[in-house]
Amino acid sequence: MKAIFRGIKHYTKLLFKLAFIIILGVIIISIGLLIKYKPAFEVTFLEENLGYVSNKYEVEEEINNYVDNKENCIADVELSERPQYNFKLISNSEQTNEEGVLSKVADTAIVTYRMFAIKLNGEVRDYVESLEEAEELVASMQKEYGEEINVDLTIEEVYTKEIPEVVAIETAKAEIGEELGVKLQQKLELKEEALAFTKVYTSRGANVSRMSKSVVDLGDIDLIEPVKGTISSRFGAISSIRPSAHKGLDIATANGTGIKVVADGIVTFAGWDKYYGNYVMVLHKNGIETCYAHCSKLYVEAGEEVKQGDIIAAVGSTGNSTGNHLHLEIRKDGVALNPLHYLYK
Ligand SMILES: [Zn+2]
Repeated sequence: MKAIFRGIKHYTKLLFKLAFIIILGVIIISIGLLIKYKPAFEVTFLEENLGYVSNKYEVEEEINNYVDNKENCIADVELSERPQYNFKLISNSEQTNEEGVLSKVADTAIVTYRMFAIKLNGEVRDYVESLEEAEELVASMQKEYGEEINVDLTIEEVYTKEIPEVVAIETAKAEIGEELGVKLQQKLELKEEALAFTKVYTSRGANVSRMSKSVVDLGDIDLIEPVKGTISSRFGAISSIRPSAHKGLDIATANGTGIKVVADGIVTFAGWDKYYGNYVMVLHKNGIETCYAHCSKLYVEAGEEVKQGDIIAAVGSTGNSTGNHLHLEIRKDGVALNPLHYLYK
């Protein structure tokens, strides 16, 4: 019995010795490995090897922050895929590439920006960052100019992949304010001029213009045709029904047809003359005036602002006229021009 016990004791001792040697060996090998190697993650992104990062969780958090960023007009950040990580032991001398990984991810991300376009008369003038800013701008412009001129400002939400060129609200206000200020100034000048013209028409009558046969440049003004119809008498025509050569263009059409004003302007006269019948004079910019005669009805008054296309009167046959037609005159600086140079071509 004693011999058996002694044998077991001997083997147990041997086993402990062996275990001790193995553990010691593992510790020595581990220390050796850790001196030479460090743990890292090999990164693969879009089938490209981007090197190593030491902590994949930190890198993932940075990427999450980038994707969730909503500053600087960023509405959405879309990644086509996430990086893949493989645990590795790498040589201690090996550099990790956290920055390279993050910049590669950012470079391939699809970023959508959101901003607000401020449109003046349908054309984009500026982009601003927030709707509140845009609304504040429109309200302040309305308040400053809205009473005197038509402030056609609209806001449009814009989504784009292009990096936005947004401006500070003060810049947008200054730019748009300047444009509206010019418009207001022009209107005030036109109004003043219109008042002077009104005096001329009421004291001398309408038929005062000289005639020019040559094509005169109207500047930055595009006319539209006031009515559709048949040309019944041309500019310069001589006829027994008139005391002098025809200073306008006659367009025959049905009684009551609405007459559109050919361009923006201010009504300088709306009233009666024994030759012109009921007629309207409108002053436009660049010293251009138009005259609409023989009307059955007038829908505007002197001093009224009109927009191109507004119906200002109805076709008739009042005054020195032998049938329903519009007698249209275009004048520049008091000289009658041939309407066919600009319209009904
Ligand atoms: Zn005529």
